[in-house]
Amino acid sequence: MAPIANSKPESRPARAIIHVDMDAYYASVEQLDHPEYRNQPLIVGGTGARGVVAAASYEVRKFGVYSAMPMSRARRLCPQAIVMPVRMSRYREISIRVFDIFRQVTPQLEGLSLDEAFLDVTASLALFGSIETIGAFLRAEILAHTGLHASVGMAHNKFLAKLASDIAKPRGFVHVPHDGVQAFLDPMPVKRIWGIGKRTLPKLHQIGILTIGQLRKAEPVALVQVLGKRCGHFQALARGEDEREVTAGRPDKSLSREVTFEQNISAVAELLAELQRQTESVAGRLRAQSLLAGTVQIKVRDSRFRTASRSRSLATPTCSTAVIFRQASALLQAWLAENRQTPVRLLGVGVAGLEAPDRYGEVLETAQQTALDKTMDKIKRRYGDDKAVRALALKRGKKAG
Ligand SMILES: [Mg+2]
Repeated sequence: MAPIANSKPESRPARAIIHVDMDAYYASVEQLDHPEYRNQPLIVGGTGARGVVAAASYEVRKFGVYSAMPMSRARRLCPQAIVMPVRMSRYREISIRVFDIFRQVTPQLEGLSLDEAFLDVTASLALFGSIETIGAFLRAEILAHTGLHASVGMAHNKFLAKLASDIAKPRGFVHVPHDGVQAFLDPMPVKRIWGIGKRTLPKLHQIGILTIGQLRKAEPVALVQVLGKRCGHFQALARGEDEREVTAGRPDKSLSREVTFEQNISAVAELLAELQRQTESVAGRLRAQSLLAGTVQIKVRDSRFRTASRSRSLATPTCSTAVIFRQASALLQAWLAENRQTPVRLLGVGVAGLEAPDRYGEVLETAQQTALDKTMDKIKRRYGDDKAVRALALKRGKKAG
């Protein structure tokens, strides 16, 4: 945006920012695709012994199950929970539809993840009338086109908009008007301020600051002891001030997939099967984003926690599963040759040097194995990443890893 001549920051026209966040996204997609699991405690995540919770339905959160928790603990807390594997390709597919709806109201869009974004709708107000009209439009369109619910927060900056969408989840719809900032912020616990973490929080509590309102009114002299140089920044947030722009997200610079095995693996065939599975996923994500990769890399961690990364540049950028797998397996074979009989704890494959070619369609058409890649993408969308690999392994008469 071009700077306005002679304008001080406070005289800049008020912005209109919306934060949209889908409710329990992965879990809600699974409940959408499996109606029999609606209103049931459902967990999405790694199902193995070292698996982690990726998403928890609202029904299972009542049992204390949250994202990033070890699956073993989640299962203990809620033994009756339905546990589903992650189907990233499906979540990505719906995400594309949601972001298409965002683009109907503004190009000023900053995606934070598959299911969350900031929208600067300042320039759209004239067309729609009010920020609430736009928020309501987004919510209704998302529900109509995906069958999923989102929470919508509206304010004049990012900090307030994000708090507003968080505060009333699920199906939240909160607008913080200019003259309602203090009433909104003051009663909130001080940990709601971005950047106040586990280390700072007890120190603030110690000096009697429990709420955002108390932080706002605190004497800087006392605060500096605890917050140091960041004191002014945090008090500005406590007043609801946040000047950060909504910056359009750049495409991914790299994509990767890795897994920590339940039991360390030394069998070459098993490692290659896993590598194939990961390559399917990474290449599928490349194709979903219409990107080509210039570099292939692998990551190996052995049983003694030594980690190695190896990479190889490609003469021609690609999105072909077969080409990426050929490079990744050569890198893995080279590592194995130098580390014979070494049990592997973690294996990963990644691509970097990503670019969006002008004529992606053409490149894709001429890529080797295009038909198979497309079939795989379709199977994955329907059944999830694991089934697709099983189908491929069957096709080749091998056992899946
Ligand atoms: Mg979400």
